[in-house]
Amino acid sequence: MTAPFRRPLTRARQLVDAGLAPPEKLEALEAVAARYAVSITPTVAGLIDADDPDDPIARQFVPDAAELVTSPEERADPIGDDAHSPIEGIVHRYPDRVLLKLVHVCPVYCRFCFRREMVGPSGHGTLSGDALAAALAYIRDTEAIWEVILTGGDPLVASPRRLGEVMQALAGIDHVKVVRFHSRVPVVEPGRIDDALVEALKASGKATYVVVHANHPRELGEEACQALARLADAGIVLLSQTVLLAGVNDDPAVLGALMRRLVENRIKPYYLHHGDLAPGTSHFRTGIGEGQALMRALRGRWSGLCQPTYVLDIPGGHGKVPIGPSYIETSPDTERLIRDTDGGRHSYPPGTDQDG
Ligand code: SF4
Repeated sequence: MTAPFRRPLTRARQLVDAGLAPPEKLEALEAVAARYAVSITPTVAGLIDADDPDDPIARQFVPDAAELVTSPEERADPIGDDAHSPIEGIVHRYPDRVLLKLVHVCPVYCRFCFRREMVGPSGHGTLSGDALAAALAYIRDTEAIWEVILTGGDPLVASPRRLGEVMQALAGIDHVKVVRFHSRVPVVEPGRIDDALVEALKASGKATYVVVHANHPRELGEEACQALARLADAGIVLLSQTVLLAGVNDDPAVLGALMRRLVENRIKPYYLHHGDLAPGTSHFRTGIGEGQALMRALRGRWSGLCQPTYVLDIPGGHGKVPIGPSYIETSPDTERLIRDTDGGRHSYPPGTDQDG
């Protein structure tokens, strides 16, 4: 493992000096860093095995020249946020919930990020006070909104004071019952999860969920687990989201170990995302068939608690759908065949329902 650093590494030269990339790659790294934001926190730097050229942690955070190759199907806004943004800071794609994008900065910049054109120091920045007030007014005025999802960027980089203010504002909106945060912070900058931040997250009195983004079992080190325990002990419900990434977790043993580690830390695996069509990320994407095979392997080997839903955000903003394997086959005589996790087929009576 590399030596820990006190500040995030944000420049190509720092990555080389820290031994996280070889000097001969400096020029290529600088070209990528000029295009997409870079940041590696001390915690993440400490997880990287710099002697392993295929290290799965480094692959997620150290820039790669392949990011400058954009394939024809890739797009700047792969999941269509802009098409569903009625007002700055809000994405309203489904009737019962909105995204509230408080900030567009993150403690780390994932090389496969689906919002990579929006996040970073030169991205969409932080929501101004006026824009936040207008976004909260939109939520207040739209009674169908049952859940507010703070995402970004990473909302947990905001100060406890600011988060507390947002939560207090949401506390005053009766129809909002659930507040959900999507964050990498507990894993990549666990020191931020202190008492003040935990109190801020609870300030609304609503049901609070934190969806932790983690892609490899080694990300859940001792410090991260302590931070997660602070959240769970405070009554905050923890879920996880993982991005299926070639060379990182496209292996049943790795994916299974990650899911177990999450569950051991009181986190229910929620989503396994198929890689989005973000620019310069084709080297991370697997085929959907590979993802389904991984899900079959998980189902066959690991506890039901360890099963996320494999999902695809349909490009263009058409929403998220499950794309996991089906275990039902219907034969011409309407007999149903159910496949077990070893591939065996078993008939099941059709009953009175109609096939859809
Ligand atoms: S933490 Fe999330 S928003 Fe930030 S770079 Fe990673 S994937 Fe993108």
